[in-house]
Amino acid sequence: MRFTLDGTQPRVVFGAGTFASLAAEIDRLGARRILIVGTPGRSELLHRAAGLLGDRVAGTFNEAVVHVPEAVAAHAIIAATTAAADCILSIGGGSPIGVSKSIAMATLLPIVAVPTTYSGSEMTPVWGITRDGVKHTGRESRVQPRVVIYDPELTLALPVSVSAVSGINAIAHCVEALYAPDAIPLTSWMAEEGIRALGESLPAIAETPADIAARTRAMYGAWLAGSALAAVQMGLHHKLAHVLGGSFDLPHAETHAVLLPYTAEYNESAARDAMSIVARALGGASAPAALYNLGRRIGTPGSLGDIGMKEADLDRAADLAVEKPYANPAPVTRDGVLSVLRRAFAGQALD
Ligand code: NAD
Repeated sequence: MRFTLDGTQPRVVFGAGTFASLAAEIDRLGARRILIVGTPGRSELLHRAAGLLGDRVAGTFNEAVVHVPEAVAAHAIIAATTAAADCILSIGGGSPIGVSKSIAMATLLPIVAVPTTYSGSEMTPVWGITRDGVKHTGRESRVQPRVVIYDPELTLALPVSVSAVSGINAIAHCVEALYAPDAIPLTSWMAEEGIRALGESLPAIAETPADIAARTRAMYGAWLAGSALAAVQMGLHHKLAHVLGGSFDLPHAETHAVLLPYTAEYNESAARDAMSIVARALGGASAPAALYNLGRRIGTPGSLGDIGMKEADLDRAADLAVEKPYANPAPVTRDGVLSVLRRAFAGQALD
């Protein structure tokens, strides 16, 4: 056995009610001037955070949007500078976390993240920014949050539809972590355990959205998925999701949810061990079918057409996805990518 495990993990405070420890966590970092970053949809939670932090709040930027358009990042950096902030508090899903990372890139400010979806971004050093219609991503340890407060009570009102797609987004991190070239036993354990936790909890949430035990288990899965994503490289699946989101404006988590069974199908014969772990964790006979069936059970969108992709754009998407090389178990060819996109566009049933 031979491996490299790079980087560090954020401090993680996990459990129902932990949001109440926000001020203590900020004080522990020695921060005095906080910029709160969020979205208008989470205003009530932002106010609660401001109430907990009192005069530590130096400003609020609540205009975060998905995929971090360059102009939004520029405004957020100005907000941090104007507030003379010494710390960023990100509250919400991957969108405010992404914008917070763009501030950290420019200013080196530490991030405290309070995630309210299952996207996993809060654990990672992965940043993304959309410039001229193309999403660029990279890894920088300075953007990785310092502290993550996972309070499942904050997700009780997360709509079932958002819970389902962001949960599958987290499962996608786990699936690709299992066949990553730099996977190590710890990341593979996290990935399998994350798939199992999410595979069990997402159907329970679809049935009873305010089930705190299921919400806690889903958040546990999201933490594991984000931790695995933080440590290893992603492949074709994430590349396609970024291309479709960044260049065709498709909704991020929904795109992951539609694509995942078909990217797993494409990689199945080249990553047999990883795929048998996915199938085992989901209690299915094959990974692509188990992923497809999970999506049907929790009501994720069935096809790329359903989430706004135009058939005429599939060829251009395939071109963009093969522009630069990246690691993937099955060779990434333009024809192969196009076949994945066509099957996902049609929402081909898998069994
Ligand atoms: P999001 O942050 O856009 O949130 C999705 C929707 O859920 C929004 O409408 C939001 O208002 C709503 N919402 C969030 N929390 C809620 C709550 N508690 N109750 C009710 N509604 C709530 O979406 P996301 O899927 O979390 O994140 C997507 C973004 O994150 C993308 O830009 C993606 O590229 C990025 N991402 C980055 C990484 C990384 O490691 N860098 C990993 C995963 C995702």
